[in-house]
Amino acid sequence: MINFEAVNKRFPNGTTAVHDLSLEMEQGGVTVLVGSSGCGKTTTLRMINRMVEPTSGTIRVGGKDVLSQDAAELRRSIGYVIQQAGLFPHRTIIDNIATVPLLLGWGRKKARSRAAELLETVGLPADSGRRYPHQLSGGQQQRVGVARALAADPPVLLMDEPFGAVDPVVRTQLQDELLRLQKELNKTIVFVTHDIDEAVRLGDRIAVFRTGGHLVQCAPPEELLARPADPFVADFLGAERGLKLLSLSTLAGVPQGPAPAGGRWELAVDASGVPLGWRDKDAGDTATLLPVRPLRDTDSLLSALNESVASPAGLVARVDADGILTGVTAREEIHDRAGTAHSTARAAA
Ligand code: ATP
Repeated sequence: MINFEAVNKRFPNGTTAVHDLSLEMEQGGVTVLVGSSGCGKTTTLRMINRMVEPTSGTIRVGGKDVLSQDAAELRRSIGYVIQQAGLFPHRTIIDNIATVPLLLGWGRKKARSRAAELLETVGLPADSGRRYPHQLSGGQQQRVGVARALAADPPVLLMDEPFGAVDPVVRTQLQDELLRLQKELNKTIVFVTHDIDEAVRLGDRIAVFRTGGHLVQCAPPEELLARPADPFVADFLGAERGLKLLSLSTLAGVPQGPAPAGGRWELAVDASGVPLGWRDKDAGDTATLLPVRPLRDTDSLLSALNESVASPAGLVARVDADGILTGVTAREEIHDRAGTAHSTARAAA
């Protein structure tokens, strides 16, 4: 969908922001650009909608050279979301969202009804449409920024540190929301972030840049984590690279057995089979139960490892979608699967 071919960007002051970049971004995929400050991520992003023009090389969107298109028209056909949303302070939320449709000549009524529809899509209450940006929280403003970018239903969305200014809890919510939206909308998204955890959560592919605008590696997150191309990438991914890899694999298919009958620890369940906690048989019947956090097939190996360490029995209680116990899994099984996940990612690489 987006194709960079031998692209360079040198600013008039002599700074090389992007160096000989060749990169493909797949249709319907999320490509995350990461790297230390000043390595050329934003410049790369902005060359896609011609807010910055390359010094040499070719950039194509949907097969068409961006330089052959009218810049204003191109920009209207590509959604753009920035940090702190960049909303117009003196326009209502509805009018902010309707900006591009109005520029495209949709007419006020149609543009506003589309904007109202998008409020719901991004999880904002209908009555927030009449408010002004300063009357919303940072996280809500960011949602409006996403709604505005989606208003004319562009196939491509550029997102530059969109969640950089909100607290970690809201940030996670916004990431979840984006993943949910993306399942429905299937946009081609280019996303810039400093945060490697955000990149691993959101990216179908992650492109790691080094100072001077050099692309070092571009790969799916599993592959990047299992096989960083060089020490720079490994360092950038951080010491918890192995744990991040575990966060990407799930418990599905990891063997489970019956809950232990003998031994010191017994898993207490209610009448319908919902796990209640671990009972210490040595402590007698009156002992309080130790907490259990049952996991589903969709939970990550990282959660499973964590639970197996936290559980007094070293076991993970597994439940179905209704929360009913299906069996237990021992820590060793999770270790084994973790090793397999690692080698599968290696093989893929
Ligand atoms: P950050 O993560 O800090 O936002 P970045 O990876 O997005 O950084 P860019 O903003 O693309 O980096 O900048 C790449 C390099 O180009 C930097 O050295 C920056 O100082 C320089 N640069 C960016 N814009 C200009 C400009 N208009 N004129 C001169 N140099 C610029």
